[in-house]
Amino acid sequence: MKNSIDTDMIIDNKRGKEYDTANQPLYYSTAFLRPSLDDEEAHLYVRNSNPNREKLEEKLARLENGKYGFAFNSGMSAITAALMTFSPGDHVIMPSDMYGGTYELSKTILKRYQLNLTAVDQSNLYSVANAVTKDTKAIYIETPSNPTLKVTDIKKIVEIAKKNNLITIVDNTFMTPLGQSPLSLGVDIVVHSATKFLGGHSDVLAGAVIVNDEEIKNSLQELQVVMGMGLGTYDCWTLNQHLKTLSIRWKQSTENTDKLYEFFKSHEGITNIYYPGEDKLHLSQASHGGAVISFRIKDESKAQVFVDKLNIPLVSVSLGGVESILSHPKTSSHKALTEEERQDRGITDGLFRLSVGIEDADDLISDIRQALDSI
Ligand SMILES: *Cc1c(COP(=O)(O)O)cnc(C)c1O
Repeated sequence: MKNSIDTDMIIDNKRGKEYDTANQPLYYSTAFLRPSLDDEEAHLYVRNSNPNREKLEEKLARLENGKYGFAFNSGMSAITAALMTFSPGDHVIMPSDMYGGTYELSKTILKRYQLNLTAVDQSNLYSVANAVTKDTKAIYIETPSNPTLKVTDIKKIVEIAKKNNLITIVDNTFMTPLGQSPLSLGVDIVVHSATKFLGGHSDVLAGAVIVNDEEIKNSLQELQVVMGMGLGTYDCWTLNQHLKTLSIRWKQSTENTDKLYEFFKSHEGITNIYYPGEDKLHLSQASHGGAVISFRIKDESKAQVFVDKLNIPLVSVSLGGVESILSHPKTSSHKALTEEERQDRGITDGLFRLSVGIEDADDLISDIRQALDSI
């Protein structure tokens, strides 16, 4: 009988097997002894493979219901590897409001290696279809997007891709594998910044790629090993530990987010809420609105006063931690955009993005309420 994900994330070992420990030990060694000279299967050199990365990668594949999982040394490294499976001259269609680091990557390094990336508004399926050229090899999706949580129709984009023989890639960081399962919707490559919800404790920098196709798997494996992009042993061990509580963290964070959503709707000091929890399209491809919610305060000149009054959410960047993190896109993640680009995307002085942690929801609400009431 197949176990549920909740169970499979916990089990590191079976009685009588290999190591006899509840937790997988940390194999902090750069080389492994060869049982016999021609044993091709055994771990040998840490960059190529090691027990901690192997265990973690099995869990990453299990989480996304995929065949092959890869642990990379950052989300950016995972995204770089996914895009470097293509060749110079190839063209990839990107979302116009892609993650800042991915945007940076596309216009600098990948450009130098002659991978052509075009950004289009993917909520408009005609623009996506129209952007396909004879060189197009893939469509890259990020849904919901950052910071205004815009939703892209994964199944419709997969349809366009299949018609044109293209590969689809989804950055699934915001929804986690528990909230959205792109491979089951026909997507070929799923990437994650495991630094966020998968890690969940604001400590590890890591990335993941999960695929089913053997050819893509071989290409990713080559990139991971030859370019040295694999996640370090200690971080593999830590991430494996953190995955054991992913399900319970995600449950608490999403329940808290539902309560915060209701609170934001009821508060006069909030003028806009960006959250896909009631979005039909989103809920047709995801099980929940997730644990990231953005909002705009009414008096946009009071952004600093608002954060000064808060006691619980950390005012910082990043997301997905057990602690709630409030970020101000205009002065952090989206600082590099021009004022006009920011206006286009609704990134104004009063816009905040809240990554909801696992604190008590009532404490979070009363803290945010008193801050809003005082401005
Ligand atoms: C953080 C993030 C990344 C980059 O991941 P790192 O782990 O910081 O390299 C990519 N995509 C999304 C959606 C992210 O939030």
